Amino acid sequence: MILYALRCACGHEFEQWFRNMADYDTQKAEGLSCPSCGGTEVSKAIMAPRVGASKPSPAPMPACNPSGCGNAMCPMSQMA
Ligand SMILES: [Zn+2]
Repeated sequence: MILYALRCACGHEFEQWFRNMADYDTQKAEGLSCPSCGGTEVSKAIMAPRVGASKPSPAPMPACNPSGCGNAMCPMSQMA
């Protein structure tokens, strides 16, 4: 899902979700309309869509050889 900021011809800005970029084109062809004035002269207000995916998971800890890498500072070595 992609959230686009849209703007109608008279300057109302609103946001609408689309399944993907092609869905925007489809809905625009079918007639997007401004919820404030009903105007159909609608265009994307910004070119930086927010993607509605879940938050990216934090980066995994750097992998190390389970038997220790020989670095005294290696957390794997300190656990042994
Ligand atoms: Zn409007």
